[in-house]
Amino acid sequence: MKSSLILSLLLAAGLSACKPVTPEGGSQSTLPSNQKGADITYQINVYSFADSDGDGYGDIKGITEHLDYLDALGATALWLSPIQTCASYHGYDVLDYSSINPRLGTEADFKELIDKAREKNIDIYMDYVLNHSGRGEWFSSATSSESSPYRSFYVLSDNPTADVAAGRVDNYAGASSPGMGSWHKISGGDVGYKGRLHFSLNWGAKTITVTKSDDSPQSSNPAASKWLWIGSAGAVGLYETSSGLFEITIDVDTDWGFLVRSSLSSWDDGTKWGGDGGSITLGTPFKLNSSTAADITFGGSSTWYFASFDASMPDLNYGPYAKASESEAFKTLAESADKWIRMGVNGLRLDAVMWIYQEQADANASFLAQWYDRCNATYKARGGEGDLYMVGEAFTETARVAPYYKGLPSLFNFSYWWTVKDRIGRAKGNDFARTVLWFRDQYKPYRSNFIDAIKLSNHDEDRTGNDLGRSLPKMKLAGALLLTSPGKPFIYQGEELGYWGEKSRGDEFIRSPMKWTREGRIASGAFGGKIDIGMLGPEISVEAQLEDEDSILRMYKAFARARNTCPALSHGQMAEVTSRIDALALWTMSYGGQTVLVAHNFGNTPVQTALPEYKLTKTVVSNGEYSVKDGTLSLGPFASAVFEQ
Ligand code: MG
Repeated sequence: MKSSLILSLLLAAGLSACKPVTPEGGSQSTLPSNQKGADITYQINVYSFADSDGDGYGDIKGITEHLDYLDALGATALWLSPIQTCASYHGYDVLDYSSINPRLGTEADFKELIDKAREKNIDIYMDYVLNHSGRGEWFSSATSSESSPYRSFYVLSDNPTADVAAGRVDNYAGASSPGMGSWHKISGGDVGYKGRLHFSLNWGAKTITVTKSDDSPQSSNPAASKWLWIGSAGAVGLYETSSGLFEITIDVDTDWGFLVRSSLSSWDDGTKWGGDGGSITLGTPFKLNSSTAADITFGGSSTWYFASFDASMPDLNYGPYAKASESEAFKTLAESADKWIRMGVNGLRLDAVMWIYQEQADANASFLAQWYDRCNATYKARGGEGDLYMVGEAFTETARVAPYYKGLPSLFNFSYWWTVKDRIGRAKGNDFARTVLWFRDQYKPYRSNFIDAIKLSNHDEDRTGNDLGRSLPKMKLAGALLLTSPGKPFIYQGEELGYWGEKSRGDEFIRSPMKWTREGRIASGAFGGKIDIGMLGPEISVEAQLEDEDSILRMYKAFARARNTCPALSHGQMAEVTSRIDALALWTMSYGGQTVLVAHNFGNTPVQTALPEYKLTKTVVSNGEYSVKDGTLSLGPFASAVFEQ
């Protein structure tokens, strides 16, 4: 059932008055599923959520077995990490868009999940990767024969520099260089090299000369200003032997060639230097360029492909953006989406939408509108209620996200989380509502009925707990903010348990498995030992936290319940209430004649304020210490309270 319909039922049933939810009645207390009026999505890493068959990997049945947990948490939708057949554990290198990854389950398992979730008023959103595929049968076929039916699916060129200059690379949408990504030589012949080589970089002439060497190999120069980026070794610092001349002799073992970098802190334009499509000849100066910056290879075939991300994920090619829907790749991908939408999927999360046409917002929005219309038509033909939900990942700040609303109904709001952590870090709450309203103002010119997908951290970012110094009170405040802000909140697996984790240690550490019981097994098979055992102790488990009235999990449940039963919180218009205290955020949310006052203390010292114009008698939900006396509200450190008006 759609939340809009639930909302009308709630109002019709006289439930427009918010139900006080603290203290919560018993650890297992749940709201009847048909009374969830909010749009709360829970983001699941399928491979590390719950393992149903004991093979160590999370799977689809594991989710089905935990629907009660997700229902009690107040979820009305689940965004699943990619579940299609793929090469990696994370799933973002899809090999077959129409089949389920056997490690995660079967189509029957997926259908069962959709149906059982539906009984609890929970929608299923699939992660759809449109920017690139994995290197599967399509790629093999496309790159081995010019008559392959998949030849047009990828961005291929025998001379990338010339093709880009002539505007023949549709993927660039008219830009002269990509916002991100590289050209890679298609395997065939010796692309890489193994042996001892001397490198001589002439920075003035922007050439590099590579020769065989019998000299002793040198170690990387730790004080270098120019580096080789080579093989799996990564950065090797060069020595400046005379002005503008950089040299080193090393043992090379690379299966793709190498690049030259003038910065290690950035991959921005102008810091990465490669070739223009040709191979290097030993002993002959090789001209570097930073616009194409293709891998410098040692031979091999003459055809190149473009990849925004890793070489293992070639970009898909949809032709000129204005008629992308006519491309073979679009039609094939859309047919796969049709299959899942007809099965009962109610939403798609689109990965990396900025890179489909290399950061060209208008081109990307045009493409996305075509994709949305196609998928929504299938949804409506299925008899789906309202419109299909679709949210895009444009991983950038609000002003640059906004134009994508020309193409999609919903986009993630990364700035929201960046603002939450910045303001908590600075104990600055009294411009929070203004900032959130400013975000929303940016979207309005592009789509009046935009759905602002607000979030804290996700599977690509340092954990909320990490950025908040593992402070439980701060993590609770962040969760309370998320669930009292306008928009459509997304809760990332583990945030409700107070997980931490740092991306620089490896992506696995920000995708840790759920800890269901104090002593039980976790779905860690995908991670090759990259598990923070110290974090995943007994007390962070769901079992322990359900028993602890003070736990972050209980806080999430209470605030989600408030949002689900209080239309003003879930659907209300936000209005800033002036706060003269730096740390104190105040705003109202109003809907259908109902108003609530929301108060959060962003600081670690108590705050007090007189609020003569507001009623402080009926608490909808609260977190931390608070009290009311003679019209004055006192909030303890990092505390929150919501009052019905
Ligand atoms: Mg399993």
